Amino acid sequence: MNVLVLNAGSSSLKYQLVNLETRSVLAKGICERVGSDEAFHKHGIDDNEVVIDAPMADHNEAMALVLEALTSGENKAIDSLDQIDAIGHRIVQGGKYFDRSVLIDDAVIDKIAELAELAPLHNGAALMGIEACRTYMADKPMVAVFDTSYFHTLQPKAYMYPIPYEYYEKYGIRKYGAHGTSHRYLADRAAEMLDEQIDDLKIITCHLGNGCSMSAIDHGLAVDTSMGLTPLDGLMMGTRSGAIDPAIVPFLIEHEGLTSQEVNDILNKKSGLLGISGISNDLRSVRTASEEGNDRAQLAYEMYSNSVKKYIGQYIAVMGGVDAIVLSAGVGENCDKMRRMIFAGLQPLGIVLDLEKNKGRGGERVISTDDSAVQILVIPTNEEYMIARDTFDLVQESLSADI
Ligand code: AMP
Repeated sequence: MNVLVLNAGSSSLKYQLVNLETRSVLAKGICERVGSDEAFHKHGIDDNEVVIDAPMADHNEAMALVLEALTSGENKAIDSLDQIDAIGHRIVQGGKYFDRSVLIDDAVIDKIAELAELAPLHNGAALMGIEACRTYMADKPMVAVFDTSYFHTLQPKAYMYPIPYEYYEKYGIRKYGAHGTSHRYLADRAAEMLDEQIDDLKIITCHLGNGCSMSAIDHGLAVDTSMGLTPLDGLMMGTRSGAIDPAIVPFLIEHEGLTSQEVNDILNKKSGLLGISGISNDLRSVRTASEEGNDRAQLAYEMYSNSVKKYIGQYIAVMGGVDAIVLSAGVGENCDKMRRMIFAGLQPLGIVLDLEKNKGRGGERVISTDDSAVQILVIPTNEEYMIARDTFDLVQESLSADI
């Protein structure tokens, strides 16, 4: 079965065509700056990638370009749309409604629209992606895979905020988490790599990219996660502050004469590594600057690693121990220096990084010492595969139900 996996952002449309039987990626690409004069389309795998400047007024037009690139030209992956069996959509916010992936129908679309209040940019974009698929491939089954559904196992003590209860009742203000599909993949894959049942393990998963989140997975169930009502909470990130004293918000509004929206923008787009270093949200640039003696870059580095270290401590306490810590995404997979700083001093907790293995690059690997009580693993995340697999499972289920 070939599944087209779509991840629609406010001005982008990312896609992968995945063959489930062979677990292979047949094509991938992204339309960026959709709706602007600088729109472009990247299509192809590795060396075969081509970048095409292409006008696209909206996600509907972007989808037309994607389908054309998949089925024609030198880099085509399939001969016709008949070879796409189903479509899986990444949806950021599933709120209280969705504790698992679902086949998309009108009722599901209404709920995704209702939840857009909690994730205006993301859920709105996903709806545009769904609409575009209905335009060009009305006959294909579609599945919604929610970033939040993995965290439905959190108990109220983990997801409630200590603010008046009425705001939970009135607005649904609680922790929903994010990156759930990535954390689910990492935990499942860690158990496979360790040749253990996930039900026997306590795992901490760390998705450290431009956006960062960590989760505690206790015997196969997510019990806590660092992102909250929105993906602003938790760890320090590339441009996001993560958790800060909430009193800073009214302070800035009052002293800088800012609106709440402006403060929201500062915390989302001008904080984190960028805000502290004043250089970049990209850890590579911050690393270079710190190695050249820039104090603020060094401070940003230290704050970032400290932020991860503190969550490791929290989650060990929450689960009463840990068997495996998994690192993933741009920083987690690639930055040996950050990994060294995160694990420095954790030896008394039985967490011992192997400094030689830590220097290695690429792919899945164990980077703890042979006698470390806790395994440290690097696993490249694969949200697209997870979305394709959920889509496959649900479509198969519905087909067998129809027989
Ligand atoms: P992602 O959001 O998963 O694409 O991760 C993006 C982040 O990964 C960027 O901000 C980079 O700072 C970081 N990154 C990627 N490669 C490296 C590397 N070799 N060393 C340090 N950071 C890296």
